[in-house]
Amino acid sequence: MTNKLKYFIGNWKMFGSLNSINIVHQIDTFCKRYRKNYKVVICVPSTLIYYFSNKIKSKYISIGGQNCHENNKFGAFTGSINASLVKDAGANYIILGHSENRSEGETDQEIRKKIISAAKKKLNIIFCIGETAQEKKSGKTFTVLKRQLKNSIYSKNFMNRIIIAYEPRWAIGTGKLPNPLELRKIFIFIKKFLEKKFKIKKPNPVLYGGSVNKANINMFSSISEIDGFLIGESSKSSKKFIDIIKNYYK
Ligand code: PEP
Repeated sequence: MTNKLKYFIGNWKMFGSLNSINIVHQIDTFCKRYRKNYKVVICVPSTLIYYFSNKIKSKYISIGGQNCHENNKFGAFTGSINASLVKDAGANYIILGHSENRSEGETDQEIRKKIISAAKKKLNIIFCIGETAQEKKSGKTFTVLKRQLKNSIYSKNFMNRIIIAYEPRWAIGTGKLPNPLELRKIFIFIKKFLEKKFKIKKPNPVLYGGSVNKANINMFSSISEIDGFLIGESSKSSKKFIDIIKNYYK
């Protein structure tokens, strides 16, 4: 159930400029020196994908986008960017279903279409799922996760392109952390669900996201079912991001 390769994925959200390439260069230098079995992906705003992916020619770091329009054909969608444009700009990964987009009304069905279009363009998908504080309080965590997985992953076809990121919405940017025992149960649940529904032998990587930092990473590293991390705030500083990786392996 445990994947040996670990992922450290940064989600810069609406942050960064051309100069922020320095952050990625510093992380890359670290990755070259500090070799363990991990992969780094930095998901940047769409306007930076082309520049960053041209500057970072590294086997250790990939560049990702953060969302896309579900329509893969060019069309009248002012302000939107589809998977084809994201891929063309040089991204190899894309975050889909992030709770910040879900809270603006993005539905499971829309995410499902986005997953299909991104997979068709051969992007690796970081598919975010997670319950709200209210849903957790009313004991609906497992029901919500099952619904999100079932509604948005429609077939086994693209399974090899999907990385799940379990991000409890109440933990994103709040400093609140899940209880490790509960968290382990959730990871086992997600992996078992995928194995059973899609009859796969090796479940997809499942990452944790929500207020991860260098001080709390050790709590997570003791849970072997966690295959890596989606990191928001602490990915915008090379030092904070590098410290997370170092402390993980301590
Ligand atoms: C995120 O936005 O995906 C995230 C995990 O953010 P943070 O690490 O800041 O909680």
